[in-house]
Amino acid sequence: MKVISDSNPSPLVKRSLDAVWHPCTQMKHHETLPLIAITKGKGAWLYDENGNMLLDCISSWWTNLFGHSNPQINQAISDQLEKIEHVMLAGFTHPPVIELSERLAALTNDHLGHVFYASDGASAVEIALKMSHHFWRLNQKPEKKKFVCLENGYHGETLGALAVTDVAIFREAYGSLLQDVFTTPSPDFRKAQAGESAEDVAIRAAKALEQLLETEHRNIAAIIIEPLVQCAGQMAMHSPQYLRSVRALCDRFDIHLIADEIAVGCGRSGKFFACEHAGIWPDFLTLSKGISGGYLPLSLCMTTDKIYRAFYGDQTQQGFLHSHSYTGNPLACAAALACLDIFESEAVLEKNIERSQDLSTAFAWAKTDPRIEHWRQQGMILAFDIKHESLKNPSTFPRDMFSASLRQGILIRPIGNTIYVMPPYILSSNETIEMGASLKRALDQVLA
Ligand SMILES: *Cc1c(COP(=O)(O)O)cnc(C)c1O
Repeated sequence: MKVISDSNPSPLVKRSLDAVWHPCTQMKHHETLPLIAITKGKGAWLYDENGNMLLDCISSWWTNLFGHSNPQINQAISDQLEKIEHVMLAGFTHPPVIELSERLAALTNDHLGHVFYASDGASAVEIALKMSHHFWRLNQKPEKKKFVCLENGYHGETLGALAVTDVAIFREAYGSLLQDVFTTPSPDFRKAQAGESAEDVAIRAAKALEQLLETEHRNIAAIIIEPLVQCAGQMAMHSPQYLRSVRALCDRFDIHLIADEIAVGCGRSGKFFACEHAGIWPDFLTLSKGISGGYLPLSLCMTTDKIYRAFYGDQTQQGFLHSHSYTGNPLACAAALACLDIFESEAVLEKNIERSQDLSTAFAWAKTDPRIEHWRQQGMILAFDIKHESLKNPSTFPRDMFSASLRQGILIRPIGNTIYVMPPYILSSNETIEMGASLKRALDQVLA
């Protein structure tokens, strides 16, 4: 594919660079890094303004499950558009938000039967944190207001969510604005010492958490984790044993468990909810990203009857005090319902077992590549790390790799020295194999 020349941007790209401040981007890098104007999407493919095709191997930042411009989701949104595009959710309700809440609750066997809505993932995390602390206040334990988060965890970039996020570059820039939290070791199985299994690493990490809780539990409201895969933290994966251990510790020390499934939920891990791999339910579960199929901003926080009941009373201030203008938007809920329909009618979770095997086959070359270590996979996420000694320029590697991949017609965004793919659930076996081969060609160029 021919990539837009960086030194000579198209008129459209030039206008974007002048007027649009792009997210998580050093704008000056676009002097050399291509900025691509996308004018169309179909299935797993994005089309730039010149009609060049790009395979979306990362589901447009992990949001797109069933392809761009999916006819069934398009239809659901346009049908809803004819009825009601939006109405506030305080004092009003509407069929899509009711049906979505009921269907999600049913997917948890009604363990998490109450659903609170917002628009972006970080806000769903804020809701879980606020609700947890408010619950303890209502139970005469106002001192329980601190949070535990995992080393290398990511939960979003608003100030509350950023406080429980452990990413060095963010902590350096904004740390002085954030509340104090406890950070506990990650169960990342790449930390295994000789002879240790992933489960051993999980048990070791849970032991460290236990020690923290023994001394501090009276002041702790909740622990927040990304079940099975710390996605933004370089796709660090861990054993489901960690989730079982954390659940048991939370019960023992009277602490809430917040499972942030914004990235790993909606089938990404291989089951609809990642917690299902461990056979546990959290006290709060957040979803966003894939829930609307990558169509519209929608996020939500699910919780238990026990928590819901604590807020139920005569006084307004006993209720949960939180709202967003677009809470539970009907168009976004209609998109989410269309996605749940697709999960059912096309047996997506079953078919993804084959798709994840295709992924594994497509990247089999990387298992034995001497430049690569820590090959890993969880469902529809596949990742590996480039050994430091193989990197020519570690600081520019992600951008170099991004650019080289564009030339091969694929869209990937490495994180540090980690390369990963997280494709939509619609690639054919051939497309998957082609993706693996294209990525290898790009890597060979960058490391040559
Ligand atoms: C992306 C992400 C968030 C934040 O969601 P936004 O919609 O970007 O605010 C929170 N938690 C996890 C695990 C995520 O991957």
